[in-house]
Amino acid sequence: MTRFVGVRDMVRWVSSRAPQAVIAGMVDYLDEDFRRWEQFERAPRVASHTPYGVIELMPTSDFEKYAFKYVNGHPSNPTLGFQTVTAFGLLSDVRNGYPILLAEMTLLTALRTAATSALVARQLARPDSTVMGMIGSGSQAEFQALGMRAALGINTLRVWDTDPLAMQKFVRNLEPLGFDIRIASSAADATAGADVVTTCTADKALATVLRDDMVQPGMHINAIGGDCPGKTELDPAILDRSTVFVEHTAQTRIEGEIQQKPESFPVTEFWQVLTGDAPGRVAADQITVFDSVGFAIEDFTALRYLSDQVLGTEYEVQIDLVAEPDDPKDLFGMVGVLAPIV
Ligand code: NAD
Repeated sequence: MTRFVGVRDMVRWVSSRAPQAVIAGMVDYLDEDFRRWEQFERAPRVASHTPYGVIELMPTSDFEKYAFKYVNGHPSNPTLGFQTVTAFGLLSDVRNGYPILLAEMTLLTALRTAATSALVARQLARPDSTVMGMIGSGSQAEFQALGMRAALGINTLRVWDTDPLAMQKFVRNLEPLGFDIRIASSAADATAGADVVTTCTADKALATVLRDDMVQPGMHINAIGGDCPGKTELDPAILDRSTVFVEHTAQTRIEGEIQQKPESFPVTEFWQVLTGDAPGRVAADQITVFDSVGFAIEDFTALRYLSDQVLGTEYEVQIDLVAEPDDPKDLFGMVGVLAPIV
C-alpha cells in the first residue's frame, strides 16, 4: 500500500498546525537539504509549453529517495475559473522503486515556495527589515507574507495588484493574523520605503512589474513570478546593480529573470551561501535578488517533511496504487482467474 495525503487531509494538517508553523518547520528541512545540495541529482525540469501555459515534471533523487512533482502554470486560468498553479507529487524508495507517499502539492507548493523564500531572506535580507512591498496578491501571496514573518518578523505589508478584489482578499486573509496592511495605489507606492519586495505576479510576458527606479539600496528582492521562458517581472537594469542568487543555475538561465541576460551574467547558487562557499549579503546598502523559479529539490524536501510529519497520523490514508501480487512473478494471476472465458 502507498501512503496518500489528499487535499482534505492536507488542509486539516496545515490548519491543525497553522500555516506559519508549517512553513517554519519546512525552512529547517530546506536548510538541511540545501546544505547537502551536491548530493542530489540536479537537472532543469522537463517543460511542455503550449499557447495555454506550461506543464512541468520536476524530478530529483538523493539516491535514498526519489521524488517528482507534476505542476502546471497557466496565467490565464483565473479568468476561466481555474488556478494558475496546481500540483501533485510522489516520494519513492530507490531500493525497490516503490512509491512511499503520493500527495496533493498545490497547497504544499505554496508552502514550500514561501519556506524557500524565507530561508533565502533569512540569509540575504537586512536583519532589521520591517516592511515588505508585495506586488501580486494571488494564490501564493499570503503564504509569502507568512514566510517573511517566519524569517524576519515582518508584520507590515504594502500590497499592489492590478486586481482590486485580489488585494481585498489578501487583506481579509491576513489582517486577522495580526498583519498591518496598506493597499497601495501602484507598484511604486507599494515598494516605497520597503526593505523586502516580493514580486508574485502571473503573466506570460516579459513584464516590468518592478522598475529600476523603485529599487532602493539595501533592498532584498524576492522575485517569485518570473519562472518560465518569456515570463519575467524585473527591469533588467535592476539585475545590473544587484547581487543575484539562484537555485540551480542551468534552470534559472532558462526560466528566471536572468533569461534577460547573457550566459556569462554572474550569479551565486544559494546553497553555497549556506555552506559558506560563497558570500551572501556583505553590505547594508547592497541590493540582493533571489531569482526564484522553484527547483525539484525543494519539492523533494517538502515531501520529505510532509512524510515525517504525517506518518501514522489521521492526516494520511493508505491507497492501493501499486499492484502487488502474492507471487511477484504472477501479475496475471491477479486478473486471469476472474477473466471471462470467450
Ligand atoms: P495567481 O494567478 O493566483 O496570482 C497572480 C496575481 O498577479 C493576480 O492576482 C494578478 O492580478 C496579479 N498580476 C498580474 N500582473 C500584474 C501586474 N503587472 N502588477 C500587479 N499584479 C499583477 O498566481 P499565483 O499562484 O499566486 O502565482 C504567482 C506567480 O508565481 C506565477 O507566475 C507562478 O508561476 C509563480 N510561482 C513561482 C514559484 C516559484 O517557486 N518561484 C512557485 C509557485 C508559483
